[in-house]
Amino acid sequence: MSSTLPPFSRRSLIKTGSVGLLTAAAGPAFGAPGPSPLDVGRVEGGRVTFDNWRGAADRPSSPPPAPLPPGQRVGFAIVGLGRLSLEQVLPAFAECRQARPVALVSGSPEKARLVAAQHGIKPSSVYDYGSWDRIAEDPEIQAVYVVLPNGLHRDAVLRAAGAGKHVLCEKPMANSSAEAREMIAACEAARVKLMIAYRCQYEPYNRETIRRVRSGELGSARFIEATNTQVMGPADQWRFKRALAGGGALPDIGLYGLNTARAITGEEPVEVFARIFSPDGDARYREVEESVSFMLRFPSGVIATCSSSYGAHESKDLRVRLERGWIDLENAFAYEGQQMRLGRRDGKAENIGMLRLEQQNQFALEIDHMAACVRENRIPRTPGQEGLQDHLLMEALYESARGGTPVTLDRVAERDATRGPEPEQG
Ligand code: NDP
Repeated sequence: MSSTLPPFSRRSLIKTGSVGLLTAAAGPAFGAPGPSPLDVGRVEGGRVTFDNWRGAADRPSSPPPAPLPPGQRVGFAIVGLGRLSLEQVLPAFAECRQARPVALVSGSPEKARLVAAQHGIKPSSVYDYGSWDRIAEDPEIQAVYVVLPNGLHRDAVLRAAGAGKHVLCEKPMANSSAEAREMIAACEAARVKLMIAYRCQYEPYNRETIRRVRSGELGSARFIEATNTQVMGPADQWRFKRALAGGGALPDIGLYGLNTARAITGEEPVEVFARIFSPDGDARYREVEESVSFMLRFPSGVIATCSSSYGAHESKDLRVRLERGWIDLENAFAYEGQQMRLGRRDGKAENIGMLRLEQQNQFALEIDHMAACVRENRIPRTPGQEGLQDHLLMEALYESARGGTPVTLDRVAERDATRGPEPEQG
């Protein structure tokens, strides 16, 4: 057939119910043989799908993402343009499928203007801390992501809820359990969702660890070991001020071990014990602790041993020791670079294997989970109650450290008592 049309205009979409075959309707493109359905794929249930082109023994490629059109995504206002917002959160929106940044709240106008331009946010959608209650009048903003120092979370969440917006709040949720309770009550009264940004509960390797432990394939768990350490720089930063940070290494980075041990077991500890240490004469540790080591005893008998410090070279690892095997997750609490090794008996041998999962941006998964919960009116996996429970436990840990003795806690019978349903697959 002769052609006067550009080659790709010959392709047509043939719709059959919800399935449409993308076919080369007539003639080859650029004179080449027409593509096969295997290469062209098809539209199915609103997303493009390709059949597996690899051999059955190889891993199939991941399906193409199915992002919502920008206008249908949940619009977020980001509050506080510090390192986490600029280095992780805003870049992650580019990988989100259900969320988009539509507004910024900042005390630094020059920085905010620049960041808004970089991310396609309108200048009129940049607010300062004095005026941001006006977000109530902006229907593009459905949710607020609070990325301020910990001591400012409470006020920010109360203001966002007062403006009728759903809230995603960074960890630790607040400075105390009393503040956490106020935040939950304010969001309930305003009928908005509150999710705490426990990114590791959305990160694929951490989720795989939880899944494997809970599946029982390696027998019951005995020990969980979590380390989260880093070396801090100069004194002039909010993390050394109690009013802004709430504490030192424990609420900032020790929290990862605490939260992960709870998420793995699905249980709540019945006894906790902690020791705290700060070097003499270091002005940075006048108000907050440098190092903490703590144990959690769970009703099933699992014991978690967690260490965290602002004075030890960075190391962010998780280990689970079970009856019939072990799981080591290097960089468990890092932004990237997770490596999972599993050990178990294989006949007369010890089989030590490495598990490789698809790399996914854990911040994008977390933000999309919040967006999905807003769109579908679901409870987030990590709602305010999850953050409150960690504050109650951190308060018990501080009490233990002060008294030098273990602290006993009430037994919680329900599993995953403070969590919403499992997140969707990424
Ligand atoms: P930064 O110090 O880098 O940034 C904080 C930002 O908050 C500032 O840049 C500023 O933004 C704003 N701000 C407003 N008032 C103050 C104030 N009085 N003192 C200092 N900053 C102020 O902090 P991070 O981004 O590292 O941490 C923010 C939050 O995110 C914390 O709750 C932290 O625990 C959490 N976090 C979570 C991580 C995770 O992996 N989930 C990792 C790192 C942090 P502006 O100039 O725009 O007003």
